[in-house]
Amino acid sequence: MPHDADMVLDHIDANRLIRLAQDMVRIPSDNPPGNEREVAEFLAQYLGRAGLDVELREVAPGRPNVVARWGRVGSRPHLILNGHIDALPPGNGWTRDPYGGEIVNGRLYGRGSTDMKGPVASLIAAVEAVKQSGVKPRGSVTLTAVMDEEGRQEGTRRLVQEGVVGDFAIVAEPTEFLPVAAHKGDMYIEVVAHGREAHASTPQEGVNAIDHMADIIVELRGLADRLRERSHPLVGHPTLTVGTIDGGMLTPMVPGRCRITIDRRVLPNEIADEAVQQVREAVDRVRHRRPDVRADVRMEAFAPPMEINVKSPLVAVLRETTAQILGRDPGVHGWAATCDANLLVNEGKTPTLVFGPGSIAEQAHKPDESVSIDELTTAAKIYALTILRLVG
Ligand SMILES: [Zn+2]
Repeated sequence: MPHDADMVLDHIDANRLIRLAQDMVRIPSDNPPGNEREVAEFLAQYLGRAGLDVELREVAPGRPNVVARWGRVGSRPHLILNGHIDALPPGNGWTRDPYGGEIVNGRLYGRGSTDMKGPVASLIAAVEAVKQSGVKPRGSVTLTAVMDEEGRQEGTRRLVQEGVVGDFAIVAEPTEFLPVAAHKGDMYIEVVAHGREAHASTPQEGVNAIDHMADIIVELRGLADRLRERSHPLVGHPTLTVGTIDGGMLTPMVPGRCRITIDRRVLPNEIADEAVQQVREAVDRVRHRRPDVRADVRMEAFAPPMEINVKSPLVAVLRETTAQILGRDPGVHGWAATCDANLLVNEGKTPTLVFGPGSIAEQAHKPDESVSIDELTTAAKIYALTILRLVG
């Protein structure tokens, strides 16, 4: 390993990193409601003491992003390191304190330990190590600890609007140390069936909206099956899930309204409007058989998919630095989940990889969320070598 790399790795302070991750877990920043202020202020102080130029930039009242810099502003290449500081509310089923920051058998427990206060601590430890090793940056690093990733992604969206774009970016979501070069988009679609209310003793006087919706749902199941014929080399198949249903008011009443919401995971090579159109066509097929069916289809929300060119130097560098630390080439992967990377790629035109310790499938958004503290340190080493190679 080159001399600089050894120097940088020597400056990874595992104890300090784990304490930082524990401290962050102990400051609740649940979203909803989105109370990131305290953890953001804590991080700003920490980063200031570490000698970085740091700013708190309020996005919504009491809800700032933290932006810290290493290297001269404007010098290139410019690397953006991104992680969110909000976390889902703990929910039920915990056997440990979700804000306790306990370490048991080498794992840090608590809400956000994996997703993603732990990985944010790894990013910070990496920047600190590179800085303290005395390396003089050729380019610059912007470390962004953002609000609202679990909500409407307002934090990273605002940063991109403010011009925080770069030559490369890493979003440190938990990917089990696999570089993620594409992820699916996530679209919410609402379907409302309209009938006519009547007394249930004379149902022939009414039009049953739930009954119509049942037919629509069967059509949607067929659509979901056909979506399996599409695929993308990194992220696999699109999916369609009916996630909620409500309708009707009283048992002895023909229901006049029924509403469902659909989660549609969209491939990078799919067209968003087409995903909505497919649902409209499913409704039309039902209407063809039953002309009295009336239903509205509406897109409620959309977090777009993302995909970058796997020939980007970022991909080669991160694969190499990961191989240096883990001893194996991690390859290039896709992700079924969505995250802030889509804003950096689509809006910010910044080649971005999602890469981090821990597992979103096994740990995130669950009771007793935890992360291996060794993995946090390993991640810091990989990030540090990556910073060194890209901008050192
Ligand atoms: Zn996350």
